[in-house]
Amino acid sequence: MQHLLFLGLFLLALMIGWYLGRREAIKVGVMLQPHGSAVDKQYFIGLNYLLNEQPDEAIETFIRALEVNPETVETHIAIGKLFCQRGDVERAIKVHQNLLARPNLTRQQADSVQLELARDYLVVGLDQRAERLLQELITARSPLRAAAMTELVKVHERGHDWAEAITVGQLLVREQPDFAIPLAHYHCEQARVPLQRAEWPLARRLLLQALKIDRQCIRAILLLAELEHQAERPVECAKWLQRLVAEGADFVPQVLSLAYWCKDNGSLDLMSYLDRVLAVAPQPPVAVVLAKARELRRQDENAALHFVQSFARRQPSLVLLRYLMTLPVVDSEARELEHQVVADLVESGHAYRCHSCGFAARELHWQCPTCHQWSGLRPMPDKHLPDTALSSQGN
Ligand SMILES: [Zn+2]
Repeated sequence: MQHLLFLGLFLLALMIGWYLGRREAIKVGVMLQPHGSAVDKQYFIGLNYLLNEQPDEAIETFIRALEVNPETVETHIAIGKLFCQRGDVERAIKVHQNLLARPNLTRQQADSVQLELARDYLVVGLDQRAERLLQELITARSPLRAAAMTELVKVHERGHDWAEAITVGQLLVREQPDFAIPLAHYHCEQARVPLQRAEWPLARRLLLQALKIDRQCIRAILLLAELEHQAERPVECAKWLQRLVAEGADFVPQVLSLAYWCKDNGSLDLMSYLDRVLAVAPQPPVAVVLAKARELRRQDENAALHFVQSFARRQPSLVLLRYLMTLPVVDSEARELEHQVVADLVESGHAYRCHSCGFAARELHWQCPTCHQWSGLRPMPDKHLPDTALSSQGN
């Protein structure tokens, strides 16, 4: 942070230096002025403060050295931003308000000052003031309206004001197609209350709206499946379960109980559904493997055993191992496989975990790469560790 601040200040000093130099060059052409004007002196005093690592004094001096005119507006905006980044928001607000009061700003400059001022207000929690400034930028069709909408939608998100968030989001998504993902979630959020109140038509309409915006909104698909289950419509429910396979097969374990319900109501061929999931998912979910094994076991215990064994070989998992051990059929091949799965699980995976942030690693880092805490990582109790700590890394 401190490092960043000094970098910012240094750039600022360069900009001011460039501005002064340029102004001087223009003047020389018109009339000769003795070197070392008051402004130049202020500049060098500021630079001196900066080199002595006194950033506060440096900033004050730089501001005094700079008159506000169309050429220095960007520098003033940068100064305000710097204050804001340092947590000195009050000062940032003052700088930006001062700028905004100038009559000689171009439209573009006034807009970017207004946006920065709104951001300052948001930092100190003056949401309503920020909202007003942002709304102005949007209704005036400013070139910065996408940035303004991005800030405004964050305000509504924070306040859980989903209707307002949707209104702004619908405008924003036209400029930023990626915004479809959050916008779909806003509709899902709006559907929560009608879902709780069993107002199925309203909830259904909102969730379908979410899917229209983002075809891959898994949350909407899951909620629609659950809704149709609650509304006792097994055919509709099965339709959403099928759709889930196409958009996010790894989420199917979350709806297995619904799949059984659909099967019981004759709207889903469970076996072919599970097969489809196993064929589509990049990594077959263990819960789906077990569900299929359970179905197989109804007819043929051996078929279930071989099916699970073949998966356990490819994807060693404690859950599959536990299942294999419940099967009464034990031959030497099965026993050998069990040993292999256990060995794989013991050897593989992460052996260390950071107690402060949860980061897991195969090798020991004395400084956590994620949260940078020293001595954050500790061995997990059930893993094989290398014999020596000498090979471990600093960070
Ligand atoms: Zn950590």
